[in-house]
Amino acid sequence: MRFVRFFVILAALAVGLFSPDPSHGSGAVIGLPLDICILRARPDMTPRNLFAEPQRFDCTTPQRDFGDGDFWVMSQFLGNLASARGRNAVRIDNLWEERITLYALYPDGTIRGWPYDQRAKSRHTELGAMVQWSLPSGYGTPQRLLWRIEGSANIRGIIGDARLATRPEGARANLVMGSVYSAFGGLCAALLVYNLAMWAALRHRFQLAYCAMVIALGGYAFTSSGAIAWCWPDMPVNDRARLNYILLACTVSSALVFARGFFGDRVGGVWMTRLSNIFIAALGISTAAFVVLTPWHITLLDNIVSLCFAAILPLIVAIIWTAWRQKSPYLWLFSLAWLAPVLSATLRIGASLNLWPGSFWIDNSTIGAMACEAVISTLAVVYRIRAISRERDEARAHELAARMLADTDPLTGLLNRRAFLARATRRGGMQTLFLADLDHFKQVNETLGHDGGDDVLRVFARTLRASAPDSALVARIGGEEFAIIQPKSAAIDPEELLTRLRTARMPFDISVTASIGVCSGPLTNEVDWKRLYHCADRALYAAKAAGRDRARRADEVSVAA
Ligand code: GH3
Ligand code: MG
Ligand code: MG
Repeated sequence: MRFVRFFVILAALAVGLFSPDPSHGSGAVIGLPLDICILRARPDMTPRNLFAEPQRFDCTTPQRDFGDGDFWVMSQFLGNLASARGRNAVRIDNLWEERITLYALYPDGTIRGWPYDQRAKSRHTELGAMVQWSLPSGYGTPQRLLWRIEGSANIRGIIGDARLATRPEGARANLVMGSVYSAFGGLCAALLVYNLAMWAALRHRFQLAYCAMVIALGGYAFTSSGAIAWCWPDMPVNDRARLNYILLACTVSSALVFARGFFGDRVGGVWMTRLSNIFIAALGISTAAFVVLTPWHITLLDNIVSLCFAAILPLIVAIIWTAWRQKSPYLWLFSLAWLAPVLSATLRIGASLNLWPGSFWIDNSTIGAMACEAVISTLAVVYRIRAISRERDEARAHELAARMLADTDPLTGLLNRRAFLARATRRGGMQTLFLADLDHFKQVNETLGHDGGDDVLRVFARTLRASAPDSALVARIGGEEFAIIQPKSAAIDPEELLTRLRTARMPFDISVTASIGVCSGPLTNEVDWKRLYHCADRALYAAKAAGRDRARRADEVSVAA
């Protein structure tokens, strides 16, 4: 139930975050979206002559078609836009470039500019990884905004999602994003503690892979949300992006190790391990290349990383396919768990390979998707552990039944000789042994047949068991020979036993008698048992010799004997 609750909260926050009407959205997607046009930079261009010639800008070519380099980006005319009034916060996506300068043209013709390099961008990063620049008040609403972008890698565009917002809108966006990321952080912490505890108890290695995945995912949320820039404002933003790549690669790799460990060797076996190792190595190498070599050939390196991520999709399909063929009972939960990440990954990979336009929510879908995956996978782990404990309970029950069977005499249900001996010697102290042997049983067999004889043995056994106290050990130790062990202090009266046997209702109402030999003595080991048995057997022999249907007591076996 705990997880379901998390899930509901997360879903509610996600709805708030990805509100469908961006201009009234309450998430990071807030404020007034700006129309922007682009111009490749040349050395002779200045903000003043560009503000004077907005028609030089290209408003139709998709940003990604411009390639990398230096650019100017111009907003539409804002001077007579009512919704622009009072919106002093300029927000843009955090994209990969070396340096940005924001220029504003004011109604009196003044142009003001604010450069921000990697570190300044970091200091102006808000939750949701938006860069927000608050225009100084007192100059009025700018007529137009102009950005000079130097060293744009143009991986996901030159400028992303430019908007004008009020400060309260910005604050509200931070609050919503803060709640979403906090909920996600709480989810990660809970999953981590829970799975570590499970690992401590059960030692399944896939649980460690799962913990690694949760840690990497939590780290990815911390860096990709921009929260890291709040903690370390001097960290260059492009280094933050490098960290994103590393943590996402760690998340996906550990998720894969978890997935293959979760299904066990049965699914995929050696080839699956090899394939996933190749995938992890390729992802590791391409991510390392991106981290170390960029901005050198950044577009190519980014595409290689994206293709490595794309390779996980057929791998997951292969895992699911084999699990389905092997009829794995965990398959449906696993497929459900991975549905959201697979969709999110497809959307992101497609956007970064330029197959469809990217967006804020596609970029952030990983967090929500992985939250789904983490929660459902935990349910899958619980499901699997339940199956394991059910198997264990069944095995225990079988073992118990087998032991019972091994200890009992199949005809009468009493203890057999071996179990009787094992238990008797564990009793310690002075014990009394009764040996009861049916009189002339051979004749009973001759009269009633062997099956009839068996019935007599059953009734005899039942009568003995009923006549002895619960604490007594009652066993069939030979063909028609029975034994009872009872502490000497609580010994049964053999005469009473004989009476009950005599009066027991036998098959075909035949009358059956028995002779009993009684002897007391210490009983702690096999040697004691032999002494006690011989002593009681002597007494039994005496009872038989004296005419049967009676009890005889032999002298006690002394402790010192
Ligand atoms: P006594 O009074 O001297 O004890 O005479 P008895 O006939 O009872 O003794 P004996 O030892 O000569 O014979 C025991 C008989 O018990 C022999 C055997 O066929 C029978 N018997 C042993 N085990 C079973 C069994 O499981 N079922 C049946 N029906 N008979 C059994
Ligand atoms: Mg007999
Ligand atoms: Mg006998």
